[in-house]
Amino acid sequence: MRSSLLQELKSRCPELVILPEEPMAKHCSFRIGGIADAMLLPSSPEEAETVCRVLRQAGEAPLLMGNGTNLLVTDAPLHRMVLRLGEGFSRISVRGNTLHSESGALLSQLATAAARAGLTGLEFAHGIPGSVGGGVSMNAGAYGGEMKDAVVSVVYLDEELCLRETEDPDFSYRHSMFSGTEQVVLSADFRLSEGDETAIREKMRQLMAKRKASQPLELPSAGSTFKRPVGGYAAALIDQAGLKGVQIGGAAVSEKHAGFVVNRGGASFDDVLRLMDLIQETVLQRFGISLEPEVKIIRS
Ligand SMILES: Cc1cc2nc3c(=O)[nH]c(=O)nc-3n(C[C@H](O)[C@H](O)[C@H](O)COP(=O)(O)OP(=O)(O)OC[C@H]3O[C@@H](n4cnc5c(N)ncnc54)[C@H](O)[C@@H]3O)c2cc1C
Repeated sequence: MRSSLLQELKSRCPELVILPEEPMAKHCSFRIGGIADAMLLPSSPEEAETVCRVLRQAGEAPLLMGNGTNLLVTDAPLHRMVLRLGEGFSRISVRGNTLHSESGALLSQLATAAARAGLTGLEFAHGIPGSVGGGVSMNAGAYGGEMKDAVVSVVYLDEELCLRETEDPDFSYRHSMFSGTEQVVLSADFRLSEGDETAIREKMRQLMAKRKASQPLELPSAGSTFKRPVGGYAAALIDQAGLKGVQIGGAAVSEKHAGFVVNRGGASFDDVLRLMDLIQETVLQRFGISLEPEVKIIRS
């Protein structure tokens, strides 16, 4: 079954990169994840669309991923096709004050391209390790900026695999119309303002220094584990609940930033889930606040 599906994909998309039996841990910043049946890496919107059609006809719902920096994937075998929009799908072009980017480009590459063109407005995104597709889907943000401030249009495949464009992706905190759906973001346009390249680069440098000083970038993680609850900060609540440094198996609440669960080495999917449960229960008991995961949990 799998091999005939892979053959069909190869015959319909001769250039498609296919990685059979690919360990997800290699592609997820948590360094956790079992072996997926296959990872498919299209290198153009047309190829992505054809891959989606072939999978749809075979009754397959692929796991869609960008740079894997917000995913916690089961470490059991993952009997799914993984559609990864990455390196081969990352062309960025500049027209006036508008940057056009395919969804596999990294946010750091996008911010650097903006700086090179003397355009300001994406400095906040430079240190976020995700892709443009993941960033748009999650409305990623940092240091007072969010994707919604710069995105002016998004080209995507809807759930019927029709090519669409929207100027209103219904952005809200860590959410867009793409969150939790099977729609595929193919590219986005970002409207920016003219600025001074040196000043833009200096701002990016300062934000990166701030990030390095406050976040456990030296250990695998998926960034902030929980969303910011109304009227507070997850990290502050977890810290006040005395959970900093608490460890289950190889998973621990970071000593440097209580909002991050980190993989101290050999953490399993269950270690992280049990630690997340403990955090949620403790914070609920102490403060009556229920924390909602920001990390996307892929159980199968
Ligand atoms: C050290 C560290 C620091 C971080 N700091 C921040 C931060 O400051 N701010 C912040 O917001 N986040 C932060 N994150 C989290 C993460 O980088 C962002 O959420 C990012 O937007 C995820 O992008 P990704 O490409 O890695 O997505 P993935 O992790 O691959 O996927 C995340 C979700 O997006 C969906 N998705 C991915 N690509 C597409 C696409 N093309 N079309 C539709 N849906 C898609 C996936 O299906 C999944 O549901 C951090 C993570 C780490 C590890």
